Amino acid sequence: MSLSAASVTELVREAFAETRGRLTPQAPLGPRTWFRVGGAAEWLFQPADAEDLASVMQRLSPELPVTALGACSNVIIRDGGLDGVVIRLARGFSDIIIEEDGLVVGSACLDATVAEYAAQAGLGGLEFLAGIPGSIGGAVRMNAGAYGSDIAAVLDWAEIITRDGSLIRLEAGALRFGYRRSGLPEGALVIRARLRGTPDAPAEIAARIAEIRAARELSQPVRARTGGSTFRNPDPDISPRKAWELIDAAGCRGLRRGDAQVSEKHCNFLINLDQATAADLEGLGEDVRQRVAQQFGVELHWEIKRMGKAEGTPA
Ligand SMILES: Cc1cc2nc3c(=O)[nH]c(=O)nc-3n(C[C@H](O)[C@H](O)[C@H](O)COP(=O)(O)OP(=O)(O)OC[C@H]3O[C@@H](n4cnc5c(N)ncnc54)[C@H](O)[C@@H]3O)c2cc1C
Repeated sequence: MSLSAASVTELVREAFAETRGRLTPQAPLGPRTWFRVGGAAEWLFQPADAEDLASVMQRLSPELPVTALGACSNVIIRDGGLDGVVIRLARGFSDIIIEEDGLVVGSACLDATVAEYAAQAGLGGLEFLAGIPGSIGGAVRMNAGAYGSDIAAVLDWAEIITRDGSLIRLEAGALRFGYRRSGLPEGALVIRARLRGTPDAPAEIAARIAEIRAARELSQPVRARTGGSTFRNPDPDISPRKAWELIDAAGCRGLRRGDAQVSEKHCNFLINLDQATAADLEGLGEDVRQRVAQQFGVELHWEIKRMGKAEGTPA
């Protein structure tokens, strides 16, 4: 049975009685997302630091759903918003410590910022992060990657706070990384990570970052309201063609539903032209999946995380 609004408020009040962070009811999430769509968080929590987050998680009833959000560059939040508590890490989770052969970074740091710090410190191998618009927390959760590398290849460990409020350090192996996925425990939040770097000349690293950025400008709609790659590339045993090739061959380039469109520039990207809703974007993605399945018998799987409830769904 779902909780009544009054009992949710009561459970939230108990859990947050001593927080030093910020708790906002009915906080609009759409403006925080890359797609600029989606409803409100029933409760939005920005913890002051790891200790604050752990203490709230310990007190928060397991009945209340918890959703972590980073830079919202790989999510569609549905128009009816997210029930329960949405946690967004910001200040208090953005320190960067440079070590001889790597960096220890807070999970709220943007990937691009980490790539720049690494370059300045003469640590190579993290350039791929320069073109990924998410946060380190989202990168660990999604095993973000590009240009032949990914988080799995550079991560030493990640510190997480579990749904029951325990702070644990997990070695990379324990995160069971796969292509654009990790085995992060359900309801856990990444708070810090150590990324390995290889000593190299700062100017050469900076030049590689510039190349990556230029290549992206040419091939991806990086200035549009988008969510990055919509579908995972199929397993090569199932289809040698990448997701974008299947979508293109199925005639979906430029396909529209309302103001949602399959990007003309890179057809594994959906874009919000102006007034699209989350339902338009998700519906368009499902149209694409259907066409690809009908024409090639290949089932595409969403890489974008879709979360929350449709407009008009009761809490
Ligand atoms: C223009 C564009 C280009 C992109 N290019 C790439 C690319 O080349 N390679 C690539 O891999 N991705 C790419 N992406 C997708 C996206 O940037 C990555 O998946 C990124 O890692 C998501 O990070 P985020 O902080 O935005 O996470 P969000 O989108 O906020 O969340 C994504 C998932 O991570 C979870 N999450 C977020 N923060 C935490 C945390 N602290 N602890 C636990 N879980 C968390 C969320 O619950 C959600 O399930 C691109 C996106 C855009 C818009």
